[in-house]
Formats: sequence, C-alpha cells, structure tokens
Amino acid sequence: MKNILSVSLLIVFVFHVSISQAQPDRWQQRVKYKMDVKMDVEKNQFKGKQSIEYTNNSPDTLKVLFYHLYWNAFQPESMMDARSRELGKRVVNGRNDWDGRVRDRILNLKPDEAGYQKVNDVKVNGRAQKVKLYETILKVELDKPILPKSKAVLELSFEAQVPVQIRRSGRDNAEGVRFSMAQWYPKLAEYDYEGWHPTPYIAREFYGVWGDFDVTINIDKNYTIAGTGYLQNAQEIGHGYEAAGTTVKTPAGNTLNWHFVAPNVHDFVWAADPQYIHLSKKFRDGLTLHAFYKIDPDKLKAIYDGFSPRVKQNMSADQYISNYRREWENVLELASRALPYIEKTCGKYPYQQYSFIQGGDGGMEYPMATLLKGAGRGVVIHEWLHSWYQMMLGTNESLHSWMDEGFTSFAESRTINFLENFKDSTPHEGAMRAYIAISKSDYNEPLTTHADQYETNAGYSTNAYVKGEVFLETLAYIVGDKNRDAIMLKYFDTWKFKHPNPNDFIRLAEGVSGIQLDWYKGYFVNTIKTIDYSIDSLWEEGGKTKIRLRNKGTMPMPNDVQLTFKDGSKLMAYIPQYLMFGSKPQDDASVKRIEFAPWKWTDRFYTFEVDRKLLDLKIVEIDPRHQTADMERKDNRLELNW
Ligand SMILES: [Zn+2]
Repeated sequence: MKNILSVSLLIVFVFHVSISQAQPDRWQQRVKYKMDVKMDVEKNQFKGKQSIEYTNNSPDTLKVLFYHLYWNAFQPESMMDARSRELGKRVVNGRNDWDGRVRDRILNLKPDEAGYQKVNDVKVNGRAQKVKLYETILKVELDKPILPKSKAVLELSFEAQVPVQIRRSGRDNAEGVRFSMAQWYPKLAEYDYEGWHPTPYIAREFYGVWGDFDVTINIDKNYTIAGTGYLQNAQEIGHGYEAAGTTVKTPAGNTLNWHFVAPNVHDFVWAADPQYIHLSKKFRDGLTLHAFYKIDPDKLKAIYDGFSPRVKQNMSADQYISNYRREWENVLELASRALPYIEKTCGKYPYQQYSFIQGGDGGMEYPMATLLKGAGRGVVIHEWLHSWYQMMLGTNESLHSWMDEGFTSFAESRTINFLENFKDSTPHEGAMRAYIAISKSDYNEPLTTHADQYETNAGYSTNAYVKGEVFLETLAYIVGDKNRDAIMLKYFDTWKFKHPNPNDFIRLAEGVSGIQLDWYKGYFVNTIKTIDYSIDSLWEEGGKTKIRLRNKGTMPMPNDVQLTFKDGSKLMAYIPQYLMFGSKPQDDASVKRIEFAPWKWTDRFYTFEVDRKLLDLKIVEIDPRHQTADMERKDNRLELNW
C-alpha cells in the first residue's frame, strides 16, 4: 500500500513538472558563431574563417547540413536574376509589378560588380566534408551523422566579393554608403520541427538559427563600422564608440580589428563607410541608441533628379537634402520618443544597443540594427518594430510573412498614432482599404503562400503587410481590445528568442482570451474568403424594434451593432459568433451593451430585438469602429431620416 502510494505520488509530481515545462519549449537548434574577416576596401572583397559550435537539440540524426550563400544570387542568370526578369515584365494596376530595384540589373553586372561567396575546407569535428553547391545553397554531405542531442564543430573558410548594391546588401548604394553588409557570411540554414529550410535566395525574407555571434572585422582604419552586437574593444577603435571624455589608444598600422559580440540573435549585419557621422544617445542604463549616416550632396542630388516632376515642383533639391539631413539628426530622438509606447505594447527591448544605419536600398531589419536609405518617420518606426516581430519573435518569415511584416505594420500604425496623440480613431483604416482592394483583385492569394511563391509582388506585399495588420485588428473585434493587447504581450514573453508559428499564436490567443479561434485562423490564414455583413431589414413588433442582419460574406464573424437613438443615447448589440464558444468582455463601459445569443455561421440571417420603438432609432451600424475588412461597408450602416 505504501509503495503504491509513493509511486502514484511520484507520477503526479513528474506529470506536474512536465506540464509546467511543456508549452513553448519546442526544441530548437543552437549555434555559436566565431568569425574573423579581413576586408579589402580597394577590391571590395574579403576573406574569412568561420567556426560554428552547433547543438543539435532535435530528436533527429542529421546526415546533411545546408548553408545559405546569399550573394551568389547577384550573378547574371542566377535564380534571382531569372525570376526578377520574368516577373519584371508583369504589369499590375498599371505599374510594373516586380521590384524596381532589381529588374534586369543582375544580368548586367560586370565581373567586378557581381557578388559571390566561395566556401573552402568545410570540416565537421575536424574531418573534411563533401559539399555540393546549389547556387545560393551549399549542401554538406556529412561523413558521420550528427546525432540527436549532440554538439558538432563546423569549420570553413570563405571568400567573398561584395556586389554592387542591388537588393538589401552591397557596395556603393545610391546614397554613397560604401558597404552594406547583410547576408554576407555563410549562414547555416535552420533545421526545425518541419525539417531543413534550404530556401534559395530569389527575392525575399530570412530565417536563421538562434545563437551567439563573435565577429572580428579587420578593415581600413578610416572606416566606421556599424552593426549588430556590442563592440568589445571600443577604447582602441574610437570612431565615436569610446567612453565619453576618454582617449583612444589606436594600435599601429593602417587597419583596425573591430571585435563584436552579439548574444541570442539569429543573424549579424554590419555596414562600413569612411564618412559616417556617428550619433549616440543613452536611452537608459544598459541601452544606447546609435545612428550612422553621411550626407553626400552629389548622390542626394542625383536621387532628387530621379523624382517625379510633381514631387520636384513642391520641393527644391536643397530642401530635399536639408530635410534628409534633419531626419537623420533627429532619428534618435524619434526612436526614444516611441520606445516607451513600443515597450508597453510589444514588450521590453532586452539588448544593450540598437543602431539606425544608413545603407541598403530601403529599410531592412536585422538584429539590433536596421539599414535605411533615409530616416523618415514611417520607415524608422517600422524597422525599429521589427526588433520585436522577427528579430526577437523569430518567425520563419518565408513561410509566415504576415506574422513578421504584418504584425510590424500593425504595431507601426499604432505607434505612429501614439506619436500623434492618438488623433486617429481608426489607425488601421488604410490597411482595411488595401485588404478590400486586393480581395476584389485577381492577384489575391492565401497567407499560407511562401513569400517567394506569390505570383505578383503586389500580392505578396498586400498579403504580408496589410493582411497581417488587419488580422490583429480584427482579432480585437473578436476577443476585445484589452484581450488582444494582453495577447501581444504574452506572445512576446512566451515566444521571444524562439520560432513562433501561426498555431502557436492562435493557441496562445485562445489561452489568454478564453475564446476559441481555430475557425478564425482557418478562414483568415488558410483561405482568401472575406467578411461581408449587412443590415437586412428593421421593423416594429409589439412596441419593440426587430433588426435583421444578413451574412453576405464567406468568412463568419461576431457582430457589434451600434444603435444610436434620436435622443442621442447609444446601445451596443453584441452578437458573438457561435464558433467562439464564448463572448468578448465589454471594454468600453461608456456605452450600454446587450449580449444576444451567438450567431450560428450556417445561418445566413439573424434577427434580434431591442426594447425601443422603431421611430426612436436614428442610426444602426455594424462594426462601428471599422475593425473588420467588411467588403461592402456602405450596407453596414443605416441612417434613418424619419
Ligand atoms: Zn518590414
């Protein structure tokens, strides 16, 4: 009896422990990079050595490894070149659809302008390995497999030529920045619960293994480097990194060795230029913000000359250049103003630095840094927010681009609204309109589409950026604003430094809100079905007003129906969706709410009654805060002129 009892207690104890540890701890691989590179700024080439301590936390025996060699895309007739030229011919809405930055530029690269990454001497645990090159992917066929729950040391040497700036990374961009060094090193592909992700680089988005980076870059001593991580030898480097008021002791020679470490990131970017102005601002103990930019008037004038006559009519070249300069001068102030709100709504920024770096060809996010063409407010806030959505919540953005770009766009809209003292009551209205437009177009595709597999650039952009934003606003319509906001914070706390996917988000949202949401993911993510509710009819019966709604759409929703009476009073009729198995709490206590029975999605019509005379009624409106992308908004609202 005693033995049996103690065994059952033990079982209870073990069971309890395994539950409390279960949820987010899906296994994930881990890397520890050590890289040493020597940059030749004359030839635009560098050589380096890389060693990765790789921990296979998976239950699987790995027989191969894959590395990304992104810069091999910048060679004539590469997959990126072929895809860009084919899709470049397509016209959507009267505009050339494909990325104007690429088009046929790769085809026309001369040998000293193309990019390459060559890898030599691949060793695993000291033994030479057989490799096969598939343009931007290197496959390593392991002589001995890497066993589950074991570590391996992966070593290689590499040499690379920095391509002329075409897309994201490269040399000598339009603003004159010498080196924008993104996707610059042989990057181990991620192996996760779905297996390997050896996605050839043809256009967009990244996915990496979580880990720690230790990077030393040897470069001409006149260059300032900006990037991911913490500079370890600031006192011998200077360039604005040294402690204020101290003297820098630079070693002899024409080059400097910049030593950076970056803990718990999944990529490492850097940029370098001899004319960078370096601004920094201590935001709080343990967090410094940096900006790196240069003003090359000739380059900026050339950019200005390319603007449309309409833009030029409203702004002279000098005005353009002085605005451009002012935006960079103010970028750290803008970032500091936004950060408290961002941390309140998205979660705390945990790294010690963040750098806004002029470089690249637009705005592109990396751990602890972004490469920006200019420091306009929208792009600065957007890229800053990618620190949360992708740099800490490391979604596979090839597969779930809407959780990266879309969640970022959502946070961007609300952060911009915060910066403007919340003057906009519908900050996501633009996204709603774009969602409706794409839904009516013939280039709509479901959000389950891989980022490289969208038929059009327009389809990708709207899906990734706009639908992800609408998804989170409509989520608030279903679960309530306060629940949605709590979900975003819990999502960050639970999944930071991991690889969340749509199921993880939905399951967590269900846990926080107590509302079932599998149907919402089913319709919104897996299909291109749309929402369309309308007011069908009203009549009076026995002194009460009956209101009949109609579901004309293909995606069911709960319904908020706001009734405004002639005396100015308001009533919110709330009709949960049956599939929710629950109802949202009332966030706004200032309007009286009546909750009605849930609407079964299989019924096209739904009738409810309120204890007021029909003639008392002035306005009936479904979804008055425009939280859903209702395809035909005009039949959502009925204004009665008795
Ligand atoms: Zn983005």
